[in-house]
Amino acid sequence: MSTEKSEAIVIRQADFSESSRVVTLFTREFGKISCLAKGAKRLRNAFEGSLDLLSECRIVFIRKQSAGLDLLTEAQLIQRFHPASKSLLHLYGGYYIAELLNSLTEEHDPHPELYASTANALVSLSSPQSPVAAIFRFELTILHEIGQLPDFRTCTICHSTISLDDQSRFWVSESGLICSRCGHSDYQQSAIESGTVAVILKLIESDIAKLDRLVISDRQSKGIRRILNSIIASILGRRPKTAALLKF
Ligand SMILES: [Zn+2]
Repeated sequence: MSTEKSEAIVIRQADFSESSRVVTLFTREFGKISCLAKGAKRLRNAFEGSLDLLSECRIVFIRKQSAGLDLLTEAQLIQRFHPASKSLLHLYGGYYIAELLNSLTEEHDPHPELYASTANALVSLSSPQSPVAAIFRFELTILHEIGQLPDFRTCTICHSTISLDDQSRFWVSESGLICSRCGHSDYQQSAIESGTVAVILKLIESDIAKLDRLVISDRQSKGIRRILNSIIASILGRRPKTAALLKF
C-alpha cells in the first residue's frame, strides 16, 4: 500500500454503509479511482463537504495493491460546482460530464489533458453563456483521449481527404465519415453538412478561449449531437442515462 496525493473531481457517490460512502474520483495524476470514504455520511467528518458531485478537491488516499477500493484519508475542497443559476441545462451538462468520465475511462489510467478539459468545462457551465460548445468540446476531448475520436478529415472507406464542399455522410455503424463518392444506400448513414464538419473541426482545434465566440446554429448543433450520441452509444452499447436530459 502506498499513500498518494492528487487533485480530483468527484464524479460519483454511492452509499457503502450506515456511515461510509464509495466515492469515484477523476484525478489529475491517476485517472479514475474508486475510494472508500469512511465516515463520509456522518455530520462531522474528515472531508468537510468536499465530496459533493463535481467538486474539485485535493485528496490523499491509500492505494490498494490488489483489487479492491482505495482508501480516501483526506479531501480538501478547491471549488464546488456552481452551475449557472436557474439553468437546468448547465446542471445537467455537469451530470452528463460526470457520467461520461465514469463510464468511458478506466481506473488508474491517467489523462491529465482530460482532467484540464473537465475543469475548463465545469468553469464554462458556471457562466451564464450557452454551455453547448463547452459540452461538445469535452465530448470530443474524451473521445480523443480514449482513442475513439473519428477522423473528421478523411473518408473511412477510400481514405481521401473530405472536402468541405462535399456532401459527406456519417457512417453510423463505423462511426466515421464517408465521402459522397463512397456513399452507398446499404450503409446506415446520415447526411452531415459541410458546415457541421467545419464546426466540429473548430471545436477540436480552437483555443479554449475562442470557443465563446464560436457560433453554432441549431441545425449544426443537432447534427453534432446526433453524431456524438451515435459514437458514444456504440462504445458503451447503450445511451448514457443523462444524455436524455440534454435538450440540444
Ligand atoms: Zn470515400
